Amino acid sequence: MKKQTKKERKIGKASRPCRRCGQEGAIIRKYSLMICRQCFRDTAGSLGFKKYE
Ligand SMILES: [Zn+2]
Repeated sequence: MKKQTKKERKIGKASRPCRRCGQEGAIIRKYSLMICRQCFRDTAGSLGFKKYE
């Protein structure tokens, strides 16, 4: 069994954390936003985007 520890990964699926909240996850790179979905929904309004689903 491998033990997964939280370490800095230079190469990986989500090597780029959300530049807004800092969490790694489903980062939206569309429009070079580099933010997670939560922050996207949060900022979508101010950015002028419609609801992204
Ligand atoms: Zn975020």
